[in-house]
Parts: sequence; structure tokens; C-alpha cells
Amino acid sequence: MTAETLGFQTEAKQLLHLMVHSLYSNREIFLRELISNASDAIDKLRFAALSDGELLGDDPELRIRIDFDADAKTLTVADNGIGMTRGEVVENLGTIARSGTAEFFGSLTGDQQQDAQLIGQFGVGFYSVFMVADEVTVLTRKAGTEEGTRWSSRGEDEFTVEEAEAERGTRVVLQLKGDAQEFAEAFRLRSIVRKYSDHIAVPVVMAGEKAGEDDDAEPEDETVNAATALWTRSRSEVGDDEYREFYKHVSHDFEDPLAWSHNRVEGKLEYTSLVFLPRRAPFDLWNRESPRGLKLYVQRVFIMDDAEQFLPLYLRFVRGVVDCSDLPLNVSREILQEDASVRTIRNALSKRVLDMLSKLSSDDYATFWDEFGQVLKEGVAEDFTNREAVMKLLRFTSTASEEDVQRVALEDYVGRMQEDQNSIYYLVADGLAAARNSPHLEVFRQRNIEVLLLSDRIDEWFMSFVQEYDGKPLADVTRGDLDLPGGVPEEGAEGEEGEEGKKSDDALCKRIAGVLDGRVESVRRSVRLTDSPACLVLAEGDVGAQMRRIMEATGQAPPETKPHFEINPGHPLVSKLDDESDEDRFADLVKVLFDQASLAEGQSLNDPGDYVRRVNRLLLDLAGR
Ligand code: ADP
Ligand code: MG
Repeated sequence: MTAETLGFQTEAKQLLHLMVHSLYSNREIFLRELISNASDAIDKLRFAALSDGELLGDDPELRIRIDFDADAKTLTVADNGIGMTRGEVVENLGTIARSGTAEFFGSLTGDQQQDAQLIGQFGVGFYSVFMVADEVTVLTRKAGTEEGTRWSSRGEDEFTVEEAEAERGTRVVLQLKGDAQEFAEAFRLRSIVRKYSDHIAVPVVMAGEKAGEDDDAEPEDETVNAATALWTRSRSEVGDDEYREFYKHVSHDFEDPLAWSHNRVEGKLEYTSLVFLPRRAPFDLWNRESPRGLKLYVQRVFIMDDAEQFLPLYLRFVRGVVDCSDLPLNVSREILQEDASVRTIRNALSKRVLDMLSKLSSDDYATFWDEFGQVLKEGVAEDFTNREAVMKLLRFTSTASEEDVQRVALEDYVGRMQEDQNSIYYLVADGLAAARNSPHLEVFRQRNIEVLLLSDRIDEWFMSFVQEYDGKPLADVTRGDLDLPGGVPEEGAEGEEGEEGKKSDDALCKRIAGVLDGRVESVRRSVRLTDSPACLVLAEGDVGAQMRRIMEATGQAPPETKPHFEINPGHPLVSKLDDESDEDRFADLVKVLFDQASLAEGQSLNDPGDYVRRVNRLLLDLAGR
């Protein structure tokens, strides 16, 4: 095939542009990215060679080589790894393949500072070469194939690909920019390699310094990095900066991790794990197809990326490496799925991650929770064994503070429960404003009892798995009979205490039930309300408003449920109601109260027009009086 010139995918072009213009202050990281890619390519070849030794051919010593030419202003990073076919070159170096990228780029602000933070999510990647190079040429040949490919670009709108002679693996040649000559200088290059790539298990080789007078002698090659897999070293030998750089290599992230945990397990099952908590959620966290899991090694040999069997789904934000001595080198995803030792490791890693989370400082944990709390919540449903530990990690908004952040742990709540309070109270609403204004909170506010406020998409669902904490049942304040500390007040409508009042309330409830026939389960006197005239209450097991909406959105028909309609006999509107002798107006008032109670729950009305007509009729009455 001949040369062709192709355009970069739009998003790739945007990324390129941002890269060159926003990350400028730290441009030496391009070398880390090239070495990271070369190391991945070598891992992949080593793995492929396990089943096809021929692939290594007469070049079995896998390494990364860095060369430079100060006069020609070029820098070359070459690996003898897996290489790429022409198709792969076009795909890998011309597009960004992650799904959802178009939407993501659509949401960028145009503010370069801010956007630069966000693009870190892609890893900085190959395109970072254009921070230091005017022109980049990639020469590559896939292991086991004959045809080589040359890719070249100036990092603007397009690139060219053509057939070319090439050795196995990939050679990236940078024509350095005028102000980037420092990267054609031995001392500088060595220090960058040591800084960022010491942990890379593959040797990074450079020509050694010229030895003595003899200018014609070829200098010996030297390995510049430590070239031992970081996780095989003992914890005490590895510095924090090394862990941070290693994280960036395995996660392709651009920011430092929040925390990590490095452990070697010996005994019946031998493995090493090094797991990291990222600082920021990827834009495609909610995409079911987005990559997750750990990098799997077997006795230091890379086996696969994204081995998702080593962590439960709700810990999918964890990045890192697991190196297991007991698995066969030819292990497949299917085998991992069923392997008992994998299950053992998964259980141990889950505990380890939860433990690491529980030990974060409160500031770090707040950062973590805001990014990943939503995912962690799934653990309450998914991980029965560790439910208790996950519950300890939950954070809520609560009525104890005006702030809408989620910072209250169940433990905090329990610690300040009132003396005779048995339950942990919570409320799920559509948003925090709706939650804070819910009529269901009135009696709690009056008695100064704290209520947890939930409004995330999955909250109703996940709270159904949280039955109790520390022996205290969790109680949804919008459901069933309230078990209030100190019992329930017994007085009836204002001025009518005791039995008498109760009787007249019962009669009123009956009269209202007549109007709302078929729409409610019952009408009863409320202990929840102090300010509002009425509210709706669900039965214990009923599907709530949030689940209902989720079901409707996903095309399922939610089951028929009828709420209890609770009235506040102390409210003037309700006492007026009791006095209303005109049955039509009584019905209007009742229906308006009922619809308003639905509205206060954040529900939409079945027949809003009907509601408006009734309200207007009542307003006219008022005006006429
Ligand atoms: P990432 O490493 O996060 O996937 P990059 O932009 O660094 O993103 O690289 C894009 C892709 O190009 C890689 O995933 C890989 O498939 C391919 N690639 C880059 N460098 C090499 C290389 N030296 N050898 C083989 N493939 C490479
Ligand atoms: Mg990369």
C-alpha cells in the first residue's frame, strides 16, 4: 500500500491542541509516556511469545533504547516489543477509542487551566510528544509480520502513513523544537529516565559516556534505570515518588494517587498486590464497558490488562497490579472467572481496599467520597461479607448541618442520637432542596432529631439493603408508622384534647377518605406534621418515588401502590375543612390538599389541569367573600 494522508479524529485533535498549549510547564513527561508505552509493548510481546517463541526471532533481549543527536536535534525512543500493524497505527495514533469521548470533549470549558486538569483522565499519552517536537516519525513492525509502517505528523491536523522498512517493535523519532534542545542532552535524559521510569521492569538503555581519550571507540551501552519490577521490591525500599510514578504508568492517569497499599502474601497462596486509589473519577466511570481491574502478572510476566476478576464491581475505581505465582502462564479470563485462588485473592483485596479507605485522613476521605462514594454504595448490596465495613464508610448529608456535602458517617449519627431514640432516620428525595423542605421532616425539626438526607440516583435502592447499623434500625421517615423517641403525641385538633378530639379526627378522616376513594390506602391523623396540612406516607415495602422513576425510565411498569394520606389536625386549613358544610367545596379542598402533598414529595400530578382549576375556583371563592 502507498502513502496516504489522514486527518486526526476531531477529539484527538482537541486533545493534541490542549496538550501542547496547557501542559507546557511540565513537558518532560513526554518521555515518561513514551517509555511507558514501550514497556507495555514489551510486556505484550513477552506474553505473546509464551505461546509462540518464534516471535522473539533473533532479537530476544527485550529493551528500550534512547538515542539522541544534538546536531540534528533528534531524540529517538525505540523498543523491540510487539509493534503495530498499519491498521493499528492509524487506530492508535489517530483516534481516541474510549467511548464517550465526544461527549466528554463537548463538556470542556475552553478554560485551558481547567481543561488541562480534566484531560489528565486520558493519561497524557503519546500525543504529549508534540509538546517538544515539531515533527514526529514512528517506524514500527508488528512481531510476526513482514510489513513495516512509517507514521509521521507535525501534530496539526493530519498524519501520513506509508509502507517502510522497520525492525520489530516501535521506534519513535522526535524532531525537537527549537526551545526543546535540552532533550538532546545525555545528562538531562538520564535524570528524567531515573525520575520517572526507574520502576519499569524493562531495561532502558543509552549509549555510555565516551571512555577517556579514544574518541573513535564506540561507548558501551548502559542501563539507565533500575529495571526491577517495583512491586517485587520490599516496601521499605520503595520511595513515595516511585510509587506515584508507578501509579501513573499502570493507570495511565496524570495526577498523583490518593493512597496505595503494597503487600506480599506468602503461604499456601503466594501473590503480591499493589493497589492504588485514584484522586479523580474518570469521565466514563458509569460506562459499563469502560476498562477496569488490575494488571495481572504471573511470576513477573505480564499476562493481561484490566483483569477485573480480582476486585468486585463496586471497587472498580481501584488501579494497580497483582502478581500471582500460582496461576498458569496461559491463564485466560474464563479460567480466572472460575479459579478458587482468584476468589481468595479477591476477598483479601476487597478487605485491604476497605481497610485502606478507613485509614485515609478525613480530608483525603472526603476527596475520595465525593469522587467515588456513589460507586462504593453499591457494595452494600453487592458484598454481603463486607457490608458492615462498607457501611462504616458511607457518608451522608444530614439535617444537622446546612451544608449540602456528604460528611456524616453512621457512627457520627449514632454518637449523637437522643437518649430514647431507637432508629436512625433518613429521607430520600429527588434533590437536597426537596429533601430539606419535605413536610416529613417537620416533627423531627421540632424535636431536634437528626435525619439523614439522601438524593442520589441509587439511594432508595441501596438504602433498602441497609437494614441496621450498630443494632439500630434505619427508618425511612416517609414510610409506615413513625417510631418517635418518647412516643407519639396523643392530643387531637387544637382545643380538643384526648378522646373527644380523636373521635372528631376519625370522623374527618372518614369524610376525606370518601372523597379520595380508591386513590389512597387510608386517611389518618399525622404525627409527622407541624406546619404542613397533609402529607403522603408509603407502606414499609412499597416502591418509592425514586425507584418508580427509575423503573419508568427503563421501561418497566412499577407496581400499583396507594399511599396513606396523613392530615395535620392542628393546621388551620384542616380545621376549616372540618367546618366545611358544602360538599363540593369540601371535595375541592381535599383534592387540592392531596395534590399538594404529592407535589411536596416531588411527584408530578396525574392531572395538573384539574388541580389548577380547583385552586382557581377556591381563589375565586376567597375573592368573592
Ligand atoms: P495509552 O498508553 O494510555 O493507551 P497512548 O496515547 O500512550 O495511550 O498510546 C496509544 C496507543 O498506541 C497504545 O494503547 C498502544 O496501543 C499504541 N502504542 C503506543 N506506543 C506504542 C509502542 N511503543 N508499541 C506498540 N504500541 C504502541
Ligand atoms: Mg501510554
